[in-house]
Amino acid sequence: MKKEDIYIGSHVGMNAPDFYLGSVKEALSYGANTFMFYTGAPQNSFRKPLSELKIQEGRKLLQEAGIDENKLIVHAPYIINAANFSRQDLYEMSINTIVSELRRTAGFGAHILVLHPGSHVGMGAPSGILALAKALDLVFEVDGTDVKIAIETMAGKGHEIGITFEQIRAIIDKCNHKERLGVCLDTCHISDAGYDIKNNFDKVLDEFDRVVGLDRLLVVHVNDSKNPIGAHKDRHENIGYGYLGFDVLYNIVHHPKLGGIPMILETPYYNEKAPYKQEIEMLRSGKYVDNWRD
Ligand code: FE
Ligand code: FE
Ligand code: ZN
Repeated sequence: MKKEDIYIGSHVGMNAPDFYLGSVKEALSYGANTFMFYTGAPQNSFRKPLSELKIQEGRKLLQEAGIDENKLIVHAPYIINAANFSRQDLYEMSINTIVSELRRTAGFGAHILVLHPGSHVGMGAPSGILALAKALDLVFEVDGTDVKIAIETMAGKGHEIGITFEQIRAIIDKCNHKERLGVCLDTCHISDAGYDIKNNFDKVLDEFDRVVGLDRLLVVHVNDSKNPIGAHKDRHENIGYGYLGFDVLYNIVHHPKLGGIPMILETPYYNEKAPYKQEIEMLRSGKYVDNWRD
């Protein structure tokens, strides 16, 4: 694979006073050629109007830097839960928030929105899957964009859905607008969910291809995990410091079947420092620096 086929970056912030211009600058400071951002706080759905977010300035800098907006990723806020019919108010709020996030994603010139599939809250996974698919149909009937939703594979905490490839397949199958759906594969989450990517990533990727289809894969979240396979914890770790280790994650980033797919780091800060410049450099070059956090 050519080196330029690798698109790697991290999640970045979007804060006053520079907002999106600041997000782009942050990504460039890490040596990234893609990135992921939230259009406001990750934890809530309060959102500033797009006109206040210095989007034109940010897009101009992207263009100057030669970054392809097709590779950019937006992440929807965590409060969305469209996998539970039992609380009508939350269900409707979730649908409205997804519509708004799709429109905002388009407003930034981006094309992919990552969404956590949500929690069935004790109603059972089949009910959660149906609730989400119905919600997505309502969303896609009104949002008026062509932004795709990448459903993220989850670790299996609590009552999460989307923890097996079969569940992801079922969500897609039950949705009438399949052309709008794709998948975000999170390396920490699928290992925590029980997929043995540490010892046999190729086998897991073949299984993903068979069950979901590789053409649905829109983005990979590249994270080490603090916990062993099957732990269902969802605790991200810095590259090389966790259960998966550097070699496994390097091979995923450079996997010949994953050329062109954006690779996004969501690893934790250490000593209040962002790790992304070092992690991106090591994952690009293959040169791991022992104890790089020291
Ligand atoms: Fe996520
Ligand atoms: Fe993730
Ligand atoms: Zn996670």
